[in-house]
Amino acid sequence: MSSPPSFPIPIADADTQPFWDACRRHELVIQRCARCSRWLWQPRPICSSCQTPDPVWTRVSGDGRITSWTVIRPPTLPAYAERVPFVVLLVQLEEGVRLLGYLVDDAGALRRTDGEAEGVAIGARVRLRFHDQAGTLLPSWTITP
Ligand SMILES: [Zn+2]
Repeated sequence: MSSPPSFPIPIADADTQPFWDACRRHELVIQRCARCSRWLWQPRPICSSCQTPDPVWTRVSGDGRITSWTVIRPPTLPAYAERVPFVVLLVQLEEGVRLLGYLVDDAGALRRTDGEAEGVAIGARVRLRFHDQAGTLLPSWTITP
């Protein structure tokens, strides 16, 4: 008897726990420096620009534009075998921060697509959704019509 293949899921640490807690509430938060107002990504304990400690977790809309994308095809991890092909997006949020995530439908389900004729294009507007991957909610995006 074999166990089903498992998905890679993020492991929160002291710096990232607030981010993953917000995702569980279907909210996206990004750190912002209280002194110089710079948006910070990845999460960190001090501002990378002015070294002020304790950046402030700030809720953002999560909406943005596609700056790059790729199609995930076989071979892949066994857990993804029945999901390919699908699209991974690099999204630039309105705050200027860039995050990776899946292309999903309005309900947050992974869209099986090769990326052709689906509105996937650099510069296309996207809206934040959350994809449930083995119980962890991952920021993901849907194309804005
Ligand atoms: Zn700063």
